[in-house]
Amino acid sequence: MANPSLLILAGDGIGPEVMAEVKKIIGWFDAKRGIRFDVSEDLVGGAAYDVHGTPLHDSTMAKAQEVDAVLLGAVGGPKYDKLDFSVKPERGLLRLRKEMDLFSNLRPAQCFDALADFSSLKREVVAGLDIVIVRELTSGVYFGEPRGIFTEGNERVGINTQRYTESEIARVARSAFELARRRNNKVCSMEKANVMESGILWREVVQEVHDKEYPDVELSHMYADAGAMQLCRWPKQFDVIVTDNLFGDLLSDAAAMLTGSLGMLPSASLGAPMANGRPKALYEPVHGSAPDIAGQGKANPIACILSFAMALRYSFDMGAEADRLEKAVEKVLADGVRTADLMGPEGGVPVSTSGMGDAVIAA
Ligand code: ATP
Ligand code: MG
Repeated sequence: MANPSLLILAGDGIGPEVMAEVKKIIGWFDAKRGIRFDVSEDLVGGAAYDVHGTPLHDSTMAKAQEVDAVLLGAVGGPKYDKLDFSVKPERGLLRLRKEMDLFSNLRPAQCFDALADFSSLKREVVAGLDIVIVRELTSGVYFGEPRGIFTEGNERVGINTQRYTESEIARVARSAFELARRRNNKVCSMEKANVMESGILWREVVQEVHDKEYPDVELSHMYADAGAMQLCRWPKQFDVIVTDNLFGDLLSDAAAMLTGSLGMLPSASLGAPMANGRPKALYEPVHGSAPDIAGQGKANPIACILSFAMALRYSFDMGAEADRLEKAVEKVLADGVRTADLMGPEGGVPVSTSGMGDAVIAA
């Protein structure tokens, strides 16, 4: 059987620095576990613009469509701020998401015990927290027509339209139920069916998909405003949350702050199933290119490492290896190993980006 294939797009700023640590880990899997990936590397963002005059070359786009998974570092930086909108680094990432049709955005909020004091909430509320928000990514109010700023009578009016088709709701619901079956069989769907027609349809379709295809999964519904409140009050009541593009944007950022540091958060964006049954997928840390610390060996590589762990789990069916990697991260944190962003008042063992990668491999 062919080796699983992975396209690495390290990108800009700290992207290549954190990706270097993932490459070391991929080397470890090969040497110590006999697990080999067909890894190819290419350019995205400013790095691609510098060479090709475009933030994503067609040949890179074609490769991304063929591989089992794409792992991306970060794009953008001050050097590119003045570029025309059409060739900005971020457009490279947007093109990948759009052409791969990545409609389901998974944002885990996981609180490692050793970092529970970094949270904006009390330790007992967040310690051991492990939830995933599934956000619909390609439709909803950010895309619906009509949109624009118009003149009505003698004043201007700004218009956006929340629009969801049944099939758009059904496919992201399936993605959430599939995820739930790999976790703890529990989904909470959030919308505002009390005041929005799209919310009424959302609730109906999620329930229908559940009853027909996933009756084994426990499903509940919650209004998104109540959900936001519950997420701050007692987040451990949730496991998988599925919601639309707008509410998902807000809820996943709020959930991120439960866990403390931007340098810790991975994400996955999934599309339709490929021939092998696994979804098209792009994995990336939630953080950006962090130009303020780029090139200094200060970046925390854990978000990128955990993004690779998600790839192991969701694209390569290597759940046990994903567990192994996540456990190693947990141990390193428990041992007090800290990049600068994780250094709290209690101190710890200070390490550079590559020091953190080495510690994870040793663990
Ligand atoms: P973008 O527009 O690409 O999202 P941003 O400026 O909003 O960029 P980041 O680039 O993620 O966000 O940086 C926000 C802050 O967090 C910066 O001060 C940065 O140094 C810090 N930061 C981001 N990622 C990391 C990391 N992996 N390790 C340490 N610090 C980080
Ligand atoms: Mg940002």
